[in-house]
Amino acid sequence: MNHLLPLMLEDAAANLPDDLFRILFEKSPGSLLIKADAPRFTILAASDAYLNITSVQRRDVLGKGFFEVFPENGDQPNDDTTARKVFTKVIETNQKLDVPVYRYDVLDPVTHQKQIRYWSCSNTPILDDGKVDFILNTVIDVTAEVKAKEAAIESENRLLLAAEATGMAIWDLDIKATNFTFSPQFPAIFGHSAEDNVTLTDVQGQVHPDDLENVAIKAYYESIVTGTYFYEIRIYWPDNSLHWIRTKGTVLFNKDKEPIRMLGTIVDITESKRDEIRKSDFIAMASHELKTPLTSLKAYLQLLESKLNGLSDPFIKTAVVKCGNQVNKMTALIHSFLDISKLEPGKLQLKREIFNINKLINDIINESRILSNTHVLIFDNPDELSVNADREKIGQVIGNFISNAIKYSAKGSEVFLHCEVLENDILVSVKDEGIGIRLKDREKVFQRFYRAEDEDMRNVTGFGIGLYLSSEIIQRHKGEIWVKSEEGKGSTFYFSLPLNTD
Ligand code: ADP
Repeated sequence: MNHLLPLMLEDAAANLPDDLFRILFEKSPGSLLIKADAPRFTILAASDAYLNITSVQRRDVLGKGFFEVFPENGDQPNDDTTARKVFTKVIETNQKLDVPVYRYDVLDPVTHQKQIRYWSCSNTPILDDGKVDFILNTVIDVTAEVKAKEAAIESENRLLLAAEATGMAIWDLDIKATNFTFSPQFPAIFGHSAEDNVTLTDVQGQVHPDDLENVAIKAYYESIVTGTYFYEIRIYWPDNSLHWIRTKGTVLFNKDKEPIRMLGTIVDITESKRDEIRKSDFIAMASHELKTPLTSLKAYLQLLESKLNGLSDPFIKTAVVKCGNQVNKMTALIHSFLDISKLEPGKLQLKREIFNINKLINDIINESRILSNTHVLIFDNPDELSVNADREKIGQVIGNFISNAIKYSAKGSEVFLHCEVLENDILVSVKDEGIGIRLKDREKVFQRFYRAEDEDMRNVTGFGIGLYLSSEIIQRHKGEIWVKSEEGKGSTFYFSLPLNTD
């Protein structure tokens, strides 16, 4: 059957306008039948789709040489893909030859403007006696696909340029295949040259040992639950210098909710981190220096207060008490600042000991009663309960819960303390009947310097440090801290500590 085809085609092209074959051919996808009469390559038949794609009329192509209709187009990305070379090769080799992307400038029939079009061409030889007699040239318009690809490449380049201008690198991890790719800036952030073949294992090996487990791995497991990835860690460059990096990313899940891919950015934050460390070192130093004069100020005030006992002037007495209160506030503040500076990685060390937590709670309640007797503090569990933790720091957390309960509730109201063992944890709670915390603030009260902006808060002094410190202390104990609250009704702050500290 096949050997009849060329003859049939020749007849059809020559003079059979109503021939069935011609109709079939004309309705076929973008096809052009060309005689292999190099160098002319006479066009014998053209389908409607071909004419449409190439913006030419049938009467202008039939019987014409291919290059009369489509003048040779020298600016192909690859010179071997010019139509003449392709046709010649098909004739020489008797083999089908495809050109996946062929660029051609077409004159738009409506606007008469030149337009760049991209075609994907296929050139099939039709043989007669082992010799190529015809070439079936089929064309698909791939302009939209090429342009979309170009736009995608351009936007990727733009993103890379913008990222690199800000010193940022982009990374992409295929979790299942552990395939890790990144932008060209990435190796430099880890102290490597662009030519170095950096792998995920290499960069993981550069992470400071304290930060690998505590921060990076923890953040990874959290991200699988939350879908977002964020941390700041220390890394060692190959020259052994220490650097800080910040990475932010997002996790992509498949339909079974399994994490499959992580995408993110990474940036060197060594300079800003050094500034932060310098700042907190300065705060630590200044706070430390302030402690000594404050201690003697407090001692003098106490002395003055005892000497005033015989005096009847009420103003002097109240003034001295008020001075004492202010000195207490300042001392507490300085201690907070000192603690904050200790929060830099590796600086806040826990001094664990075994102690009775219920006794600690009672001691703090008694101290609070001495400082201010405005509220009724109720503690319902006097039994002995031993924990292995940093006594001073846990005391600081309980003290902070109590002072907040007092600060944010009306004078005379009750504050309930409770401590119990729940499975493998010790749970401590402080409940007040105060102003409560709005839903939008509840998650944030544990952030550094966060204070709820509330009408009722206007006259309450504070710096938003206490709960942040408390949360850091509890986290270092591998415990948990949280709050339940109802606006206008009160709040209950909780923390839990694992009983087993191994
Ligand atoms: P500070 O009390 O110095 O502002 P904290 O870190 O101890 O700092 O508390 C942060 C914020 O949380 C407070 O400013 C307040 O808005 C809110 N908050 C804390 N404890 C309570 C409480 N018991 N009742 C209502 N709001 C509270």
